[in-house]
Amino acid sequence: MVDVRGLHKSFGLVEVLRGVDLQVRAGEVTVVLGPSGSGKSTLLRTINHLEKVSSGSVSVDGELIGYRRAGDRLHELRERDVLKQRTHIGFVFQNFNLFPHLTVLENITEAPVSALGRSRAEAQVTARRLLDRVGLSDKADAYPRQLSGGQQQRIAIARALALEPKLLLFDEPTSALDPELVGEVLDVIKDLARSGTTMIVVTHEIGFAREVADTVVFMDDGRIVEQGPPAQLLDDPQHERTRAFLSKVL
Ligand code: ADP
Ligand code: MG
Repeated sequence: MVDVRGLHKSFGLVEVLRGVDLQVRAGEVTVVLGPSGSGKSTLLRTINHLEKVSSGSVSVDGELIGYRRAGDRLHELRERDVLKQRTHIGFVFQNFNLFPHLTVLENITEAPVSALGRSRAEAQVTARRLLDRVGLSDKADAYPRQLSGGQQQRIAIARALALEPKLLLFDEPTSALDPELVGEVLDVIKDLARSGTTMIVVTHEIGFAREVADTVVFMDDGRIVEQGPPAQLLDDPQHERTRAFLSKVL
């Protein structure tokens, strides 16, 4: 489903991704671990072309993201085409990023109506089903500011699901939450994992990685240092940098 090849990304003179290769099979959950500044967010952002690549490529479900190939050169797609590709790739941010002036129901129906051309009635039926799925059927008419952080993040997940994405990307979805609210958000993500949603989750929640991940990836300094099934990477890491990181977060 995801094929990242030889990905390099620089901001000015600073190389933030230094040759990342990552493959994710359909239905699998990949958890990305790594210290702050190692390039985790930049990797997710290049996967849905919120960032241009410096070199290398990203494909999702066989489609090159952000570019079209012409001979051996890549040309960046028009914004309109990038937006279309992005409708297939859900992104859940650390800080929820809900529209503050829209109700919960409006937050969830906005993109299906404007980007997919769904009727408002149809989008609302889907939105109510998704609200039920994240356990918030009673909040359809609330505004984001009236909800806890955990509830806002569950709404953000419902909003991402409303576009029926092929792939869901989560960037530290529980890092902005009070500790007692982390579990309710992880439970929703676990439920999605069990139902076969393909996802890449950047998180520091090692217990979640152990329980849910098919593959755990450890990044440091713009590279994937090692990756493997959770039991292998978490209990028997092969690299000193992985061991040092895990000893701090476990
Ligand atoms: P992580 O998510 O692992 O903490 P990031 O991908 O956010 O790491 O950042 C990796 C590095 O890239 C950091 O050194 C960060 O300062 C730098 N960086 C990220 N975004 C930008 C940007 N838009 N401009 C310049 N530097 C950036
Ligand atoms: Mg980050």
